[in-house]
Amino acid sequence: MTGRELEEFRAEVREWCRAHVPSDWRQTQTGASDAEFVRFQQDWFQQLRAAGYAVPHWPVEYGGGMPVAEQIVLYQELAAHDAPRLVLAFVAVHHAAATLLAAGTEEQRRRHLPAILDGEIWVQGFSEPGAGSDLAALRTTARRAGDEYVVTGQKVWASGAQYADWCLLLARTDPNAPKRQGISYFLLDMRTPGVEVRPIRQATGESHFCEIFLDEVRIPADRLVGAENTGWRVAQQTLGAERGLTMLELAERLGNAGFRWLAEACAPIDDPVVADRLATLEIELTGLRALCRDLVERHAAATAGPADASIVKLYYSELLQRLTDFGAEVGGMAAQTVVRKPMSGGWESGAWVLDFVGSWEWTIPGGTSEIQRTIIAERGLGLPRA
Ligand SMILES: Cc1cc2nc3c(=O)[nH]c(=O)nc-3n(C[C@H](O)[C@H](O)[C@H](O)COP(=O)(O)OP(=O)(O)OC[C@H]3O[C@@H](n4cnc5c(N)ncnc54)[C@H](O)[C@@H]3O)c2cc1C
Repeated sequence: MTGRELEEFRAEVREWCRAHVPSDWRQTQTGASDAEFVRFQQDWFQQLRAAGYAVPHWPVEYGGGMPVAEQIVLYQELAAHDAPRLVLAFVAVHHAAATLLAAGTEEQRRRHLPAILDGEIWVQGFSEPGAGSDLAALRTTARRAGDEYVVTGQKVWASGAQYADWCLLLARTDPNAPKRQGISYFLLDMRTPGVEVRPIRQATGESHFCEIFLDEVRIPADRLVGAENTGWRVAQQTLGAERGLTMLELAERLGNAGFRWLAEACAPIDDPVVADRLATLEIELTGLRALCRDLVERHAAATAGPADASIVKLYYSELLQRLTDFGAEVGGMAAQTVVRKPMSGGWESGAWVLDFVGSWEWTIPGGTSEIQRTIIAERGLGLPRA
């Protein structure tokens, strides 16, 4: 792809954004009800789909096939035009799709990928009260009974479970095998009898995630992904989906809206200490965006190192904390008292105290910062195992 073709594509996306990004979404999504949030997200998803921008990373036969260089431009322009985020479809278009494409049957792919494009919502049901960093310690069990599995247990921190139609579920099928070898991977219809979802109220007042209780839940055997007891390997495909493009999108949003809110909070910049910290953050954001572009390109070329994604995730999450912390510091009284922020956005809304509290979510999921540092040390630098 030539530079000229890429610039033509950028102009096309810019024009589309000017015509389609709702200018008032931050106002209409502040204080929106759950139903309004879901409707808005579904509608935005369909607009992106009609333009060919909803699943650019999927294979061409399922509606994707966009070259990587264009995907980078697409996410840069969506962020530059402060487009709403696809919050609700996130697990479906990234985690569920990556898993089904890598390990699902043809039948499972045909059943779910078109349905995801029509708006099917997914949740990831991996973590449990005693299994987070040590995910392989999970205790939810699945017992084979004829052509079904009967599942009992509890999941926790399941983002968006209250809206989900389907769940990516890990459960133990062989209690006697070494712990990584006795786990299986299921597609669970969230409307199956015995599934109970309880939202968890957070410090910000939102309920981003939920507990899921499973009581003798029956899952047809053809909803197993991969062979029985190979779920650990399949789960690596799901976790791998968090790399690359998802980080690029978040970094671009932090570098655009996030930095704009921050510069506004600092204005007028007549204090050299404030100017210095703002400049440092801008330099760090430039570094982060370059790191993300590099990661996406190396993923596409299959040349990414084993710790590259960990480096990006660690740097993004800690920079997000530094930036929102500084916003809360310079934003004056308003930064402490505005306690409403729009749904459909990210962790950068200009409601600084909420953004700062929310930023701590990022050093935990997808592997905590301690786990990322261990990966960087052992797999990236080749240091001896702890
Ligand atoms: C915003 C958010 C969204 C999430 N969404 C989902 C979701 O959709 N689906 C899902 O399944 N899960 C989800 N999670 C759960 C997330 O994956 C776990 O919280 C995470 O893996 C950490 O597990 P834990 O909470 O049990 O903490 P623990 O594993 O108990 O860790 C507690 C502390 O001990 C440290 N620690 C643990 N083990 C080690 C070690 N070996 N070396 C050094 N330090 C260690 C950790 O770094 C941490 O500081 C989400 C979590 C958050 C915060």
